[in-house]
Amino acid sequence: MATDSKKRVFAFEEGDGKNKHLLGGKGANLCEMTQIGLNVPPGFVLSTEACLDFLASPTKDLPPGLWEEVQAQMTALEKKTKKGFGAADEPLLVSVRSGSAMSMPGMMDTILNLGLNATTLKGVIKATGDERFGYDAYRRFIQLFGKIALNVDDAYFDKQFELVKKAAGVKEDVALSASDLKDAAERFLRVVQEQTGRPFPEDPYEQLLIAIKAVFGSWGGKRAVDYRRQFNITPAMANGTAVNICTMVFGNRGDDSGTGVGFTRDPGTGENVLYGEYLVNAQGEDVVAGIRTPKPLTSLKADMPEMAKQLDALRDRLESHYKEVQDFEFTIERNILYCLQTRNGKMNAVAQVRTSVEMEKQGIITKAQALLRVAPESLEQMLFPRLDPKAKVTAVASGLPASPGAASGIAVFDADRAEMLGKEQGFKVILVREETKPEDIHGFFASEGILTSRGGKTSHAAVVARGMGKCCVAGAEGIHVDVDKRIAIVGDTSFKEGDMITLDGTSGKVYLGEIPTVEPEFTDELVTLLTWADEVARIKVMANSDTPVDARRALKYGAVGIGLARTERMFNDPARLPIVIDMIVADTQEERQEALDRLLPLQQKDFKALFEVMSPFPVVIRLLDPPIHEFLPNENTLVREIAELQQLAKNAHGLTALGAAMTLMQASDKVRADVDGLRRQLDPMLVEEVIVKKERMLRKVRSLFETNPMLGHRGVRLGISFPEIYQMQIRAILEAAAECQNEGIEVHPKIKVPQVCTAEELKIVKKWVDAIHDEIKARTGKPVKFQFGTMIEVVRACMRAETLAEQSEFFSFGTNDLTQAAFSFSREDAENKFLPLYTQSEVLQDNPFEVLDEKGVGKLMELAVKWGRSVKPDLLVGICGEHGGHPAAIAFCDKIGLDYVSCSGPRVPVARLAAAHAALLAAKA
Ligand code: ADP
Ligand code: MG
Ligand code: MG
Repeated sequence: MATDSKKRVFAFEEGDGKNKHLLGGKGANLCEMTQIGLNVPPGFVLSTEACLDFLASPTKDLPPGLWEEVQAQMTALEKKTKKGFGAADEPLLVSVRSGSAMSMPGMMDTILNLGLNATTLKGVIKATGDERFGYDAYRRFIQLFGKIALNVDDAYFDKQFELVKKAAGVKEDVALSASDLKDAAERFLRVVQEQTGRPFPEDPYEQLLIAIKAVFGSWGGKRAVDYRRQFNITPAMANGTAVNICTMVFGNRGDDSGTGVGFTRDPGTGENVLYGEYLVNAQGEDVVAGIRTPKPLTSLKADMPEMAKQLDALRDRLESHYKEVQDFEFTIERNILYCLQTRNGKMNAVAQVRTSVEMEKQGIITKAQALLRVAPESLEQMLFPRLDPKAKVTAVASGLPASPGAASGIAVFDADRAEMLGKEQGFKVILVREETKPEDIHGFFASEGILTSRGGKTSHAAVVARGMGKCCVAGAEGIHVDVDKRIAIVGDTSFKEGDMITLDGTSGKVYLGEIPTVEPEFTDELVTLLTWADEVARIKVMANSDTPVDARRALKYGAVGIGLARTERMFNDPARLPIVIDMIVADTQEERQEALDRLLPLQQKDFKALFEVMSPFPVVIRLLDPPIHEFLPNENTLVREIAELQQLAKNAHGLTALGAAMTLMQASDKVRADVDGLRRQLDPMLVEEVIVKKERMLRKVRSLFETNPMLGHRGVRLGISFPEIYQMQIRAILEAAAECQNEGIEVHPKIKVPQVCTAEELKIVKKWVDAIHDEIKARTGKPVKFQFGTMIEVVRACMRAETLAEQSEFFSFGTNDLTQAAFSFSREDAENKFLPLYTQSEVLQDNPFEVLDEKGVGKLMELAVKWGRSVKPDLLVGICGEHGGHPAAIAFCDKIGLDYVSCSGPRVPVARLAAAHAALLAAKA
């Protein structure tokens, strides 16, 4: 209609290759490839805007004017190809392909060979002189169109096709003759008539109209909606699907034809080699569907040497243009190579990192680009477990190593049950299928790994698993999967649903049972990439580590210090706990001091070991934080044990030695352990002593009871109530540091006080620190280098940052507690009760304990940094706690000027890369 002049249809020669939002990824790249001179079959794109206009129409009509635009483009296409749409001579056939701004593999279907009918079929046969080819194309078209555009269940066609094969006495499609395929086409036409109640549409333009509407409609279909929800694809990222109309080229025209898919580099390893698969004399989806097992592209050289050379050239051309590894589709029709699609290759982290480093070395991309093309979160994949090489096991089957990593789980044979067992009931599940289809996607989410008995490395299962970073073994042809009986037969053995199996997606091997896994090593390329990251990052990455083992691992991951060492973890050591308990139940200061005197050398050793490992990096040690009742047994347990002991004491009267031993054997483990010191003699007097001790502990537990322990007697409040505890810890830290200094080990201890809300608290602790330090200095004649600072995890601490900064050399945000305090949510209660509802109904966008709440908690942080530095410009500021390892939080911390983040050891590589991204993006902005 004349009123609406918006252009909605673009020839490949005219569409803007950069505008994926408008043309979809596939369409934009078809335009781009056409415009840089690659051999793309001519065609045009209907925009995503056209899709949205269509979906908004209550009558489900094409928006006004769109059809006229399509017809004009078809006329132009006829001119370009010198063929006629619907013509009896040299008929033009097209494919109708979907494609939105975000790549959604297998989410929406493509119709091939559109334009075929009784008339054009004759034309095709005449033009090609190949009757078999004509009928083959025809029956494919009727089935695809029937399924996708007319919603006819595939099973009806499959059934007829099996009958045709049976009648012809053949197993493989390629063995069918022209008349067999003609028979198939006729049967398919009848299927459509029966299932839809209408004859198959003969008019090519009617076919085209129905197909366009079907593709547009598929954007609102369940599969696509589920996929978008799962991957959080918002309208801002992709809104509507484009439709690509593309002249058909045929890979099934004989042995000088074929079709395939390629990656410009190996997406499993990142190796710089052309990687992919092809089939000779086959069309379109034959490769991905897993119907015939394709050949690796390396054999193309032998089959079609000239084509192999052209394919290499195509690969170089694609990479140098897109500056990104490409995943492309090609078809060869009678020795002419066509490129049908390209997109950025989805790779696992190992490959992503390797290609980044190698493309930089080749001069294709810059270091900044190399860093930015790797998603920080994805590095976690590189820390995926591998099968323990020491495990002596033999594989029962092997297939293609389709997506690396290793996983064990129970075998489950369909996606619904995988979802039920894996997602709902929390079992580790391996999805086992002959081949997978897009409708199995929910089963992938619920599974640890995927095993298929058919299909290649570019089959649906392989592509989707790689995208999700799950391990996958594909095309394990030695396995016969019987989905109905829920059993897989492998040679003379088998496994059934519920049996544990293990996959190694790196080697392609399948094992029965559960096999231990080991931590992987850093690759050289990852080390290189992270070195580049450290060069550009401003914010430093430290680790939360409590033990020398943890600390060593953190160093290996590249941490430049410990940002949080929790002293309570050291208290929980089984050898220490009894002393800690003695300290807690002590009734007098002398008793408590006695226990602390025993703890001091142990803590001192702990700290010294950490300093030695981390030297010369800083180690931030937090003084005792949790409420002390956490170290005591639970009240009910104590009550039960006391009752049991009392019974035992009663029974113990007048027993023989054997009787006593037998009675003791029947006691619960804990009680027996308590009484074991009595050398298995049930002396009632001695049992009585244990009872007295337990009763004392019970009284203590009851006296320490708090209604809100997280807001109760903990942190510095505890430290001030029981000065001896903090004094012991301070002494242990400073003495350990003095010892190290004395031995020539460079140390930078930092004493951190938790839960501070007022400067007075800091002053008190600082006085102790100074006194102990003076004492050590007087004794050794040397000062100890250390810093004194505070956690910022209480709202009041943020508000009083100026006065706290006067007492501190550093601030460390504890965002777990600060989030609880800012929201007045207790974390456990919130996560168990209302947070799921809040996030689902979007009252809150995210769980603030997982995703740093920049607007609220972040605002408090920003103010605290500003106010703190207003009195002490060189105040060192960091963050510890879970948020410290999250890329978005790291970017925020970088923005508000923090000096470091501290996170768990294995998150350190993620944080280092995120820190680099933050710096690069800040520089861009
Ligand atoms: P998908 O998004 O599932 O990859 P495509 O639109 O790329 O869907 O098409 C599915 C298959 O059909 C691919 O193998 C593709 O190469 C093939 N195909 C699409 N259009 C044509 C065409 N015009 N000629 C030949 N093959 C085609
Ligand atoms: Mg598809
Ligand atoms: Mg494709």
